[in-house]
Amino acid sequence: MRFETSRALDAIERRLSVDPLVAGGVIDLVEAARSVDLDGGRPAALLRLGLFVDALSRQLGDGGVGLYAVAERGAMSDTDFTSNERMVLRRWSDDGLMEMLPPGARPGGRVREVAALTGLPVISRVPLPGHPGPVYVTVGARGGMDLTMAPSTGSTPRPHPVLSRFWRCPAGDCPVFGRPPAAGAGQAPPALPSGAPICPRHGERLIDAGVRPPAVPMVVRINGTVRTRFPLTAARPVVVGRAPEDGITIGNWLDDEASRRVSRNHVRLELRDGMVLVTDVSTNGAAVLARTSAAAAPREVALNRHEAQAMGEWDEVELYPEVTVGRADRPPADVAKGGAPNSVMADAPTIALRLPK
Ligand SMILES: [Zn+2]
Repeated sequence: MRFETSRALDAIERRLSVDPLVAGGVIDLVEAARSVDLDGGRPAALLRLGLFVDALSRQLGDGGVGLYAVAERGAMSDTDFTSNERMVLRRWSDDGLMEMLPPGARPGGRVREVAALTGLPVISRVPLPGHPGPVYVTVGARGGMDLTMAPSTGSTPRPHPVLSRFWRCPAGDCPVFGRPPAAGAGQAPPALPSGAPICPRHGERLIDAGVRPPAVPMVVRINGTVRTRFPLTAARPVVVGRAPEDGITIGNWLDDEASRRVSRNHVRLELRDGMVLVTDVSTNGAAVLARTSAAAAPREVALNRHEAQAMGEWDEVELYPEVTVGRADRPPADVAKGGAPNSVMADAPTIALRLPK
């Protein structure tokens, strides 16, 4: 195999995750790999997944955001993939980097289930009317594909009770539900075909493995680029500022003027009843840029000092112009127009896939 292909697949691999606190969208892997219209190449190509990783990075200004990929086992014997691609798929599946469903399962249905349970957007080639959460649809094709958030039909449903527990799979070698996640990490949502939690890979009834504290993935964006990501849990508030004693330090990324205006402790975030609350604890003030949907123009709402204010899922809190904190899995009001930060396709061979540079 060509060295560049292997390097690009490695870069894609590093961005695959079934942890909802790390992923920024859920995708049907084979649908993405079969998007021939994007480059006019082979019927199926694993490298195409990289186009979706990069498009998601551009949307979120986030060079580290993960992709939650779902496929069915048949993909590992699909001869439209090269033997190396099939081997890579098997590795991703065995390492629990993606979800591999049993033969005959429908990945599209599982993608929508994961999205509905976690609130993650679906990334789709076609609109999904009736889906209860946000959906990215691809726009453009050959010569430059991008994502656009489809007008939402409703708001993200409240977290399902099944997500208030960790789950364990009785199958001996389960890469996703085999052991409890590391401290601070999330866990893939169980499948709920008939209400009871089931391992999406093995079809086995999952075993309750204890309380899972609610958590929401948050990011700090500076000039449109994500500088740091942190989970906000119900267990403990997080202070974001120039140099808080205990919290998220952003001083390193601020220019001189911003450093003078952003306080050591600027805002305090809490997660209460599934709602993010923000309190201005700064000297120079903070504001919420409130939006009702991805497409809505932001409305600036000043915060009263030391008074907690609820944030909607599309809202960002502004510490200083172009210094914001918001949900990691929701695109900001100003989607960066530049290239994908930390592109996974930087090493991709342009001839093999005939991708435009
Ligand atoms: Zn399992």
